[in-house]
Amino acid sequence: MRAEIISIGTELLLGEVADTNATYLASQLALLGLDVQWVSIVGDDLERLVDVFRRALCRSDIVISTGGLGPTADDLTREAIAEVMGEKATVSEHLGRELQALFQRLGRDMPPSNLKQATLIPSAQAIPNPRGTAPGWWVEREGKTMVAMPGPPGEMRRMWEREVVPRLREKVQGEVILCRTLKSFGLSEAEAGEMVGHLFTSGNPTVGVYARPDGIHVRLVAVAREHQEAASLIRDAELELRRALGDYVWGVDDDALEAVAGRLLMEKGLSVATMESCTGGLIASTLTDVAGSSAYFKGGFVPYSAEAKVALGVDGRLIERHGTVSPEVAGAMAEAARQCLGADIGISTTGVAGPDEVEGKAPGLVYIGMADSRGSSSLEGRYPPHRPDVKRRATVHALFALRQRLMTL
Ligand code: ATP
Repeated sequence: MRAEIISIGTELLLGEVADTNATYLASQLALLGLDVQWVSIVGDDLERLVDVFRRALCRSDIVISTGGLGPTADDLTREAIAEVMGEKATVSEHLGRELQALFQRLGRDMPPSNLKQATLIPSAQAIPNPRGTAPGWWVEREGKTMVAMPGPPGEMRRMWEREVVPRLREKVQGEVILCRTLKSFGLSEAEAGEMVGHLFTSGNPTVGVYARPDGIHVRLVAVAREHQEAASLIRDAELELRRALGDYVWGVDDDALEAVAGRLLMEKGLSVATMESCTGGLIASTLTDVAGSSAYFKGGFVPYSAEAKVALGVDGRLIERHGTVSPEVAGAMAEAARQCLGADIGISTTGVAGPDEVEGKAPGLVYIGMADSRGSSSLEGRYPPHRPDVKRRATVHALFALRQRLMTL
C-alpha cells in the first residue's frame, strides 16, 4: 500500500518551524511496511490544500496529514478534505457537547469559533485528542483512507500511537512486518552501503542504510504472511549483515552505545574514569545517562589547560615534546584518570574542536586515549571541523573504542 504525508502550515513553508511531524511519520509508516512515496508541505490556503489532497488521493492509498485543525479562519484542513470528498461538514452534536464540557472543566467559556472543531463529514469519524481541543479525522471511502491529525507534535504523536496505528494495523492485516536495525561505527555511509548493498536483491527483506549521530544504522524490514516466516527472513539476513560488517557492529534496535559499554563493564566487574579536554565532559555526561552507571563510572576530569593536565598527573615534558594534541598526551591522560580515581580503565580525549588550528594541528583532529593494567594506547579520529560535531563524534568514537577494548578483556 502506498502512503503519503501532508504537513500543513504556512509557518513550515517560511522555515519558522521544522517539519518534524513528517520525519516522525515517515519512519513510523516504514515500520508498518507502508511505502511512503510523497511528502508535501503546504501553506494555509484552501485552494492549494484542495489541490494537494486531491492529488494525494489519486496516487496513494493512505494519506496522513498534520496541522490546520485549529479553530481559526486559517485552519482549513477540514474544509479542504470536505471539498475533495464532495461532502458537507456539519457540527456533530456529540463532539460539540464534548468540546463544551472540555471548556467547562477548564473554567472557560467556549468561543463560538471553536465549534468548527466539532464538525464532521459523513465519511469521517472523529479521532479523540485528550491533549487538545481538535479531534482528528479518520476518513474512509472507496478503498482510500485519509487521516487528519493536529499539528502540535505532542498531540499528534499521542493520537498516532494510541489511535491511528492500531487502526492502520488492521488495514495491513494478513501481513506480518518485522524490523531489525544493526548499529555500526567506523564506516562511512557509502562504505556500509557498498558492503551490504549487493546482499539483498530480492526486495524482502528490504535494507536501508542511514547515517545517525552514533554511527551507521542498517535497517532490515521483512514482510511475510506469518510471524515465523518473517522472523526467519530477518534472522538469515541479520547473519549475512553481521558477516559483512564484522566488528563494526556494536548494537541492535534500541541499544545505545553508552548502555552497551556499561553492560560490558558490569559483566566484567570493571570500572572506568575519564579525563577529557576537547569533549569538555561529554563522555562523562553520556556515560551517566545510563541508570545504574555509578556501579562502574568512578568519575571524570575536564583539564582544559596544559597546567590543569599537569596538575592531574600528566608529565609536562610529554606536553612540551609532543604538544597537548598528541597520541602520547592522550595516553598519559587516560593513565592519569585511571590512577587518580583507582579505576580499571581510563579514557581521555585531546583534540582541536575548532574552528581554529591549535599547535599547527587542524580542527577536527582528536586523539582518544585508553589505559588499563596492560598499559596505555591511543587512536586518532578526524571529524568534520564543526565544533559541536567534533565533540559529539569524538564521544561516540571513545565509547566505541571502550566497547572494543572491553570485548578483549
Ligand atoms: P491547534 O489546535 O493547536 O491550532 P492545529 O492542528 O491547527 O492545532 P497548527 O496550528 O497547524 O495545528 O500547528 C500548531 C503548532 O504545531 C505549530 O505552530 C507548530 O509549532 C506545530 N507544528 C505544526 N505542524 C508541525 C510539523 N509538521 N512539524 C512540527 N511541528 C509542527
